[in-house]
Amino acid sequence: MENDALKYRRLREEMVRKQIEARGVSAPLVLAAMRKVKRHLFVSEALMDQSYGDFPLPIGEQQTISQPYIVAEMTQSLGVGPDDRVLEIGTGSGYQAAVLAEIVFRVYTIERIHSLYSNARRLFDRLRYHNIVSKYSDGTVGWPDESPFDAIIVTAGSPRVPQVLIDQLAVGGRLIIPVGDQYTQDLVRIEKDEEGIHRSSLGGCRFVKLVGEHGWEKI
Ligand code: SAH
Repeated sequence: MENDALKYRRLREEMVRKQIEARGVSAPLVLAAMRKVKRHLFVSEALMDQSYGDFPLPIGEQQTISQPYIVAEMTQSLGVGPDDRVLEIGTGSGYQAAVLAEIVFRVYTIERIHSLYSNARRLFDRLRYHNIVSKYSDGTVGWPDESPFDAIIVTAGSPRVPQVLIDQLAVGGRLIIPVGDQYTQDLVRIEKDEEGIHRSSLGGCRFVKLVGEHGWEKI
């Protein structure tokens, strides 16, 4: 009988080839990270066998772990490397943070739901991701004390691009954020240079709501 580690490794390899490389993600650091991070550890035991499928999955509290391809695509668009410090807003399961932690110097990640924050923190410690710093708070205000960041990734949908996040981006930095209504958003990429900011679109997407001072109001 095939053991679990082997089974999941095989599913991971297939995920990278069929869902990620096949759709054009080619950055070697991103592909290596997607091959390495054990996605099945970031979902509940009942969902482990589905965790390498081409879809998001529930993680409790009505939140989701994003589809693998979206994680790879957003990570590639951030254009990050080994010296970078990255801010993530919306820790959720912790999977996106772990993928980034394989590539960059340090990841700062913020989650507004306490149970998700503490589950992810426990997992980061168990998997020895010592370069992930996490906190429980409203990420729409960013993390001023640790700014500026080389890149900022928002993994929840926002009605607009919060100016505070642009302010916390280093010159030369990139921000990726889904912007739109609660059903569909445009994945917006903002690059900041000496002249100002340049905005482009990576296409449509669907994320759970970014709730907070500069996001959606809590209902
Ligand atoms: N990156 C996650 C995806 C999580 S889904 C992963 O890899 O699993 C989006 C997450 O954003 C949810 O956990 C939600 O609670 C969180 N979130 C929403 N608004 C937030 C805010 N203002 N600050 C921090 N986290 C927020």
